[in-house]
Amino acid sequence: MLRKLLFWSFAVVFPLPLVLTYDAVATAPETLKFYIFLGLIAYAWWLLSVLLSVRPSRLDRFVGMPSIYGLHGMLGILAIIAAYVHRDNSYSPSSLARDLGDWSFYGSLSVLCFSVFFLSGWLVDRSRLLLRIKGFLEIAFRHQFSVWIHRLNLVIVTMIWLHAHLLVRVNQYFGFMVLFDFYTVMTLGIYAWKKWIAPDAYLQGTVASSDMLGGSTRKVSVHLDTRAATLRPGDFFFLSFKGSSSVSGEWHPFSVTDDDRETLTFTIRQHGDFTRRLDNVELGTRVRLEGPFGRFESIIQGHDREAPLVLVGMGAGVAPLLSLAAAHHTTRDIHLLWSVRTPEDAYYRDVLKEYEAASEGRLQVTVSVGRFRRRDLLDALPVEHIAKGAFFIVGPNLAVVAIRRLLWRIGVSPRRIHQERLTM
Ligand SMILES: Cc1cc2nc3c(=O)[nH]c(=O)nc-3n(C[C@H](O)[C@H](O)[C@H](O)COP(=O)(O)OP(=O)(O)OC[C@H]3O[C@@H](n4cnc5c(N)ncnc54)[C@H](O)[C@@H]3O)c2cc1C
Repeated sequence: MLRKLLFWSFAVVFPLPLVLTYDAVATAPETLKFYIFLGLIAYAWWLLSVLLSVRPSRLDRFVGMPSIYGLHGMLGILAIIAAYVHRDNSYSPSSLARDLGDWSFYGSLSVLCFSVFFLSGWLVDRSRLLLRIKGFLEIAFRHQFSVWIHRLNLVIVTMIWLHAHLLVRVNQYFGFMVLFDFYTVMTLGIYAWKKWIAPDAYLQGTVASSDMLGGSTRKVSVHLDTRAATLRPGDFFFLSFKGSSSVSGEWHPFSVTDDDRETLTFTIRQHGDFTRRLDNVELGTRVRLEGPFGRFESIIQGHDREAPLVLVGMGAGVAPLLSLAAAHHTTRDIHLLWSVRTPEDAYYRDVLKEYEAASEGRLQVTVSVGRFRRRDLLDALPVEHIAKGAFFIVGPNLAVVAIRRLLWRIGVSPRRIHQERLTM
């Protein structure tokens, strides 16, 4: 909680140098200054939002990817509100500056609405109907297309930068403009570095095996060129397959399934364009891996060592939980609950049996064909688990939301429930 507060307070601090410098140098009337401050705050928040979009791995270890994307989205909304008040209450003699301001405002509003629907779970995680509409529309508006629409924000940032440079009320203050340009160049520089230069330094490896598991899941192993020294149980990577004619180089997130740091294994449910094409990925294909990301292990380390771990996986969501079980089955009390669609989808039954046998009674596994209902959870979980356990839920968004609600209802405190949803 403290970490999140610290992280969010950075959003308050980030625009301050711009606002305070402008306040110190500008001679505009106070009321007008206030609306210019709002414009500066909106701009700084857009820049911060761009910085968060590069997925800083240290920040992920500090607060977790959902918090990073959460603040990224919230800043988009708050910036629009600040920009609206700024636009409605300030004026400019330059028609080009006015036009750039207007285009930026309407452009960012449109991109925001589009992204809230297609890229965030804010709407689709709350309604099956909206999720179905999104799935239908994604036949045309593929995820990657939505990502490109989202990147129009960079054009908007450039337009706002030009807008500020055309305003005499702003551009006459040399010191302020140096700071303003520094913010912009630093942000765009970090973005460009992260997109085009940093990937050369990411972990790389070669597809060593690719096998079907059940009817719609594939197990892909990647033998790394160098050991993943910073990998922790429960982590995930963004993978990009290079030089394969059958699969594109898009970055997709997948969790590591065991505790091997030399050959990473991924359990991939094949339901969309990209994942289905993995059928044709050739052995020997080169893979780049951005990461590792994830906070499950540090959360476990922060919990009472005597408290049981309750791992609830749905479908391929079992992947990170399996790696947690691999790491802790001999030292912690673990109850792993795994729901699958069909009996064939329980493809890790044997692996789980091995862990169970090696755990000397510390690991207990419950596999269910069909989702867990309230009664199943009450039957499977002893009172001590409900009262003290640390819960980790991983699966498709709606399923995670439903299980979390069930757990609350049977008495698990929200503070002990941790989750990973299989969409960003
Ligand atoms: C932290 C995390 C860990 C994950 N771990 C696993 C795992 O271990 N096993 C597994 O099977 N799945 C995992 N997923 C889900 C997996 O990344 C998506 O199912 C996959 O990227 C969908 O690709 P697609 O083009 O085949 O499907 P599509 O049908 O095109 O997309 C389905 C949905 O997946 C999301 N998606 C699509 N492309 C991307 C992308 N490039 N980046 C982020 N989200 C995208 C979108 O919300 C989209 O609506 C994980 C997701 C996250 C966020």
